[in-house]
Amino acid sequence: MIVSEHGTPPYLFRRGTSALVVSMPHAGTYVAPSIGRTLADVAAQRPDTDWHLAQLHDFIQSLDATVLVAMHSRYAIDLNRPPDDANLYPGQDTTGLVPVDTFDRRKLYRAGNPGPAEVQRRVERYWQPYHRRLAREIERVKSEHGRVVLWDAHSIRSVVPRFFEGRLADLNLGNADGRACDPGLAEAVLGAARRHREFTSVLNGRFKGGYITRHYGKPSAGVHALQLEMSEATYMDEEPPFAFRDDLAARVRPVLHEMMETALSWAK
Ligand SMILES: [Zn+2]
Repeated sequence: MIVSEHGTPPYLFRRGTSALVVSMPHAGTYVAPSIGRTLADVAAQRPDTDWHLAQLHDFIQSLDATVLVAMHSRYAIDLNRPPDDANLYPGQDTTGLVPVDTFDRRKLYRAGNPGPAEVQRRVERYWQPYHRRLAREIERVKSEHGRVVLWDAHSIRSVVPRFFEGRLADLNLGNADGRACDPGLAEAVLGAARRHREFTSVLNGRFKGGYITRHYGKPSAGVHALQLEMSEATYMDEEPPFAFRDDLAARVRPVLHEMMETALSWAK
């Protein structure tokens, strides 16, 4: 792959023919040289990445889903934040549109943080292309099927004191407290998760769905958005170098597959 400033695309894309659109906005690890030069050493290992999601979802072709996978790190820009950078969880700590610190509150920039012009540049270069494509594909799939399920796929370390107390449930579904998708869809997917008692699951717990879920989810218009925040402990080592664990993934992957199949069946 070409890794020049202009050579790395904002996202990888697969066009499917089913009613399922899958977005992975935090899966990217690439940082352009112009940004990388300004980042502190702590950024080198990309600790806050939603690691290995494409590998974990290796069954996605069998669902014939349309898939967008972000290529650039959330340290360049966070695709799951609104472009005006409003806090998604008022009163709670969060990282912003262009994060300036890690989940462990370590400074991301050697010298000053990016100013408004640099933030705007990143919005135009990374944020807008991803969202233009996502919006277009949601409309296409909706026009073909009458309704569309948008599945926003995430993962996070099981323990992040900055964001939540204790240990996160394994499978955290969010539909913006019922506003982003039909309650029947959320209940069906939660039911699929709960058939597997070795994994804990919750709907609209600490994670209720970020910008993508909230912005695109319009059940009355046939767009049903659901976020799944997975605990990384279910499929990988949570410490550097953040290795994928085939032995763990083999257990959670069938559950994930069943949850997504359930969502797709609901849409038919
Ligand atoms: Zn994420």
